[in-house]
Amino acid sequence: MTTTRFAPSPTGYIHIGNLRTALMNYLIARKAGGSFILRIDDTDPERSKEEYVDAIKQDLEWLGLTWDRVERQSERLDQYADAADKLREIGRFYEAFETPVELDLKRKKQLNMGKPPVYDRAALNLSDAEKGALRAERGSGVWRFKLDHERIEWNDGVLGDISIDAASVSDPVLIRGDGQVLYTIASVVDDTEMGVTNVVRGSDHVTNTATQIQIIKALGGTPPEFAHHSLLTGPQGEALSKRLGTLALRDLREQGVQPMALLSLMARLGSSDPVELRAEMAELIDGFDINRFGAAPTKFDVQDLFPLTARYLQAQPVEAVKDRLDAVGVPADSQEAFWAVAKENITTLADLEGWWVLCRDGAEPLVADEDKDFIAQAMALLPEGPYDTESWGKWTAAVKEATGRKGKGLFMPLRKAVTGMERGPDMSALLSLMQVVRARG
Ligand code: GLU
Repeated sequence: MTTTRFAPSPTGYIHIGNLRTALMNYLIARKAGGSFILRIDDTDPERSKEEYVDAIKQDLEWLGLTWDRVERQSERLDQYADAADKLREIGRFYEAFETPVELDLKRKKQLNMGKPPVYDRAALNLSDAEKGALRAERGSGVWRFKLDHERIEWNDGVLGDISIDAASVSDPVLIRGDGQVLYTIASVVDDTEMGVTNVVRGSDHVTNTATQIQIIKALGGTPPEFAHHSLLTGPQGEALSKRLGTLALRDLREQGVQPMALLSLMARLGSSDPVELRAEMAELIDGFDINRFGAAPTKFDVQDLFPLTARYLQAQPVEAVKDRLDAVGVPADSQEAFWAVAKENITTLADLEGWWVLCRDGAEPLVADEDKDFIAQAMALLPEGPYDTESWGKWTAAVKEATGRKGKGLFMPLRKAVTGMERGPDMSALLSLMQVVRARG
């Protein structure tokens, strides 16, 4: 069965970059009728926070990215210890004692000599006595996986055929000196034991994937299919990494972005298919194909979410926004007519309130000096409410008759006097909703 996972570390809120990973894995699982696992990568007890676990779940729920089960790495430490034992038994795991400062020095020397900064495996030459002495002096070492120096190859769902020379990669540390199991091995054990068949993640993981393929094989497993999506950049191609903190999903939600607008954009951005606003998740699932994504960095502009949100809302029936209309105070019998007018003139639901306040309380009139007399004359012709959809037509006809004004010279000053704005909804519809026209005096 096709099984995918989204594997965030609960060390912060999920942002637009993580969302891409989550969504792609979700869509692959759903399209195949498979299973989608939410895996919490919480092997780092210092940085992992329960509040982030809750927040990640809330954010995914908001988007409708439902998972079939949750797994937590912190509950699977025994399995990782077993895998570590197995690697020791087969001679693929070795203890190394270099301090970070020593490693840094080695790297600098290598770079100075024009060599790639790959760990030199000095620890492999330590005798048992030397190891004992180092352990006594420095405490336990780190455990490194001994890569086979051959080419590691796979067919990547986004990048195509990949071939990495294992000799150009340092033997990865899988267990820290303090015993903490690192993500690299935990992820491999989980992917294998949980039957994960497809892994989509960011292209910053490509080297990880190479080493993980060898670790999976060393443990007797079969590597899943990998796909590495490109990383997002800002609209000018600038790195987004520093700004991702401000692109948390909860911030976008606060700003009124609609889930389907966000998902529709992210399911297509960076692919050879156009972005199409979809109203239902099922349509996104049907239209998704990871192979259509390109390797080039993908430009993301948060502003693109707002027109999509506006279009999504325009297509919604009044029932879909009833709670919001109730909250703003629109009476039940006006909601349909109000929504018909307002939906054409909002970007997010937060804009509803302003339109409702206008209908309920009227607006501060906007009257140019040269229109003062004209507006006074026009207002004398405006009957007292309640207004209906014919009121505007009747009124403007009467004003035209009395003043001889027509076209823009007639309508624009009236619109500004009634709404306090130069543009906005169709006036026949809007006036029919207005309970007060302040300019009327
Ligand atoms: N916890 C890892 C991360 O957030 C997961 C990477 C993976 O998909 O394997 O980068």
